[in-house]
Amino acid sequence: MSIRVDKETCNGCGGASEPCCVRVCPGDLLAAGPDGQVYIRDPRDCWDCAACVKACPRQAIEMYLPAQIGGRGAALKAKVSRDKIIWTLKHPGGREEVFEIEAERVI
Ligand code: SF4
Ligand code: SF4
Repeated sequence: MSIRVDKETCNGCGGASEPCCVRVCPGDLLAAGPDGQVYIRDPRDCWDCAACVKACPRQAIEMYLPAQIGGRGAALKAKVSRDKIIWTLKHPGGREEVFEIEAERVI
């Protein structure tokens, strides 16, 4: 498991010196390249905490799930607002399921 950054959607947080995802990764695994695009240094070190997935304001990061949970290639995205997190689960065949979690239940 690890994450994937969608290069089409990521805008490097507008050229911020420390993009949101880079700031929140507890393992300091994310970095911005010379083009401003973010990449993960070594996916094997990612422990799937989803902090970067939730922090990205453009929903440019998805986190892969183990095959035993979602099937091979299943991935999660998150959209965070003040009072809820909307998780979108993309199944291997492309079908999507949406789960809304009230913020007070996850904080
Ligand atoms: S899922 Fe967690 S450990 Fe993995 S890259 Fe994102 S913030 Fe870092
Ligand atoms: S938080 Fe999202 S938009 Fe900002 S640099 Fe990271 S992946 Fe790109």
